[in-house]
Formats: sequence, C-alpha cells, structure tokens
Amino acid sequence: MSTATPTTRLHGIEVIDSPARMQQRMIQARADGKRIAFVPTMGFLHEGHVSLLKAGRERGDLLVLSIFVNPMQFGASEDLSRYPRDLDGDLRKAASAGTDLAFCPTPESMYPVGFQTRVEVTEVQKGLCGDHRPGHFAGVATVVLKLINLVQPHVLLLGEKDYQQLQVIRRMVRDLALPVEVLGCPLIRDDDGVALSSRNAYLSPHEREQARTLSQALFAARQAFAHGERRRDALLDRAHSILAAQPALRLDYLELRDASDLTLPPSTLTDPAVLLVAGFIGRTRLIDNILLAR
Ligand code: AMP
Repeated sequence: MSTATPTTRLHGIEVIDSPARMQQRMIQARADGKRIAFVPTMGFLHEGHVSLLKAGRERGDLLVLSIFVNPMQFGASEDLSRYPRDLDGDLRKAASAGTDLAFCPTPESMYPVGFQTRVEVTEVQKGLCGDHRPGHFAGVATVVLKLINLVQPHVLLLGEKDYQQLQVIRRMVRDLALPVEVLGCPLIRDDDGVALSSRNAYLSPHEREQARTLSQALFAARQAFAHGERRRDALLDRAHSILAAQPALRLDYLELRDASDLTLPPSTLTDPAVLLVAGFIGRTRLIDNILLAR
C-alpha cells in the first residue's frame, strides 16, 4: 500500500500547501534533472505576475509559483487582513501562463510556534520604502530565503516594479552565496500608464484616475531626460511639479537613485538612474519607478 499523499490538481496545476512536502517534491525534481524556475507572489495575479511566469516558462522545465500573503512583511497598521485574494482565479491565470506547480502555504506552516529568525539586508533596506515601512524588508528577505530553501530554484524571477525589493534580494543572494540566479523583469503598466499592482483593486474609479499622477510624473522626468536633462534637481523638480498638482496624493517620497545599487547619484547624472515614487491615494499605498538610462 502506498503511503504517498495524493497529488492535488486545480486547473491542471499541482498544488502543494505543506512546506515539508514542497521541499521533498523539489528535491526529487532536482534529482530528476529538472531546471526549476520560481516566481514568488502574494497572489491576486495580474499581467505583471503573468509576465514573470512567462519569462520563467522560457527558463525552466518546472515552473513554480508561490502564493503567500506574508504576514511578516506587513506593518501593524497595514492592509494584511484586507489584502485581496482569489486562489481559483490565480490558478486559472497561472495555468494559462504554463505554470506546473503552485506552492500555497498557510502562515502557521511557514511560521510555526517558536519561529524567531530574521534576515536583515542592512544597507539596501535603508531609505525609500524601508523608512516608511519599518521591518518590511526584513519580512521580505526572511520569507524569500525560506521560499528559496523550500523550492530550491535554479532561477528566481522578480519584478522591477518593486525595485528596492529586487535590490534587497539580489544583495542577500550574493552575500549568502545562495545558488540561484536572480532575474529582474520589466515593470508592466496598464494602458493608462498606471503600474499594475494587486493593490489597484482597492481604488475607486475616481481614485484610479488620481493614481495616474504617479506614472505621469515619472514620464515627465523621463521625457526631460530624453531631451538631454541630466541635472538631478531639475529632473526631480519636473516630476514634483506634476505630483504637487494632485491634491489627492499623500506623497511618501520621490527620489532619484543609482540604478544598480540605489546610492545617491551625483548632482549631474553620469550612470543609469532610477526615479522612484511612493504615496497614498486615499487609503491605498502605491509605488512606481522608471529607469533613466540612455
Ligand atoms: P506581489 O504579489 O505584489 O508580492 O508581487 C510578486 C512579484 O511580482 C514581485 O516580484 C513583483 O515585483 C512582481 N510584480 C508586481 N507587479 C508587477 C508589475 N506591474 N510588473 C512587473 N512585475 C510585477
């Protein structure tokens, strides 16, 4: 008699919720010679997530998605309890992007009683979202390290939408010599320019209009850059003038940083830079960024 747990399949995707079973399954996949591509998410999938899955499909023979709304990366006053969820819809979208396996653990299984480890990427997590969301990047780094240990991917696909998060994970992977390739994938926007985000679901139609201000400000700076503007303050002023005209926006920050390590660039740009913005429209915190490079 076999003692193996029967495989659960939804929309053609193998679904695993137990971390221990996931790790066993992936050890076996590696032993079978599979190349594993992994896309970690918090679910409520949109075309941004799907673009990562499609990029992963091209880079591995086993495409793994995780869906886990990670409590450790939410602050006490943040939106953990109301974060949007739709497992069935997610698995349908994931299936059409060619996903083989979805790992969907519970918080209790990822953080059993007694869990106390934190991973801190001390410098990259400073400033930007790190200042406005204390503890956020430690929560992200800790869960991503645990997910990497469970999934054991060859390639990890992350979006440039969360630019600081991508740099935090790149630094952690380098510092801890994790045997995984990190691939940053382009930010996907809606037709109106707004960066796709699961949190856009919170916006009323009116707020959605107001949310366009963020990308409009970034586009204005990019246009100035394309016309040859290289002065840091002039680029920031260009974006600020658009943001300031939107009274519904409560700005957290608008900053220009070096694109590779997020350090402050010189007053006249010489290397690729990234312009990052974060702020609230109503109760919804939105982030966006744009690359300023030749
Ligand atoms: P989340 O579910 O918001 O934690 O995002 C999971 C992954 O999808 C992260 O690597 C994000 O950077 C990426 N992602 C989210 N939104 C977008 C987007 N609009 N374009 C590209 N990648 C995205």
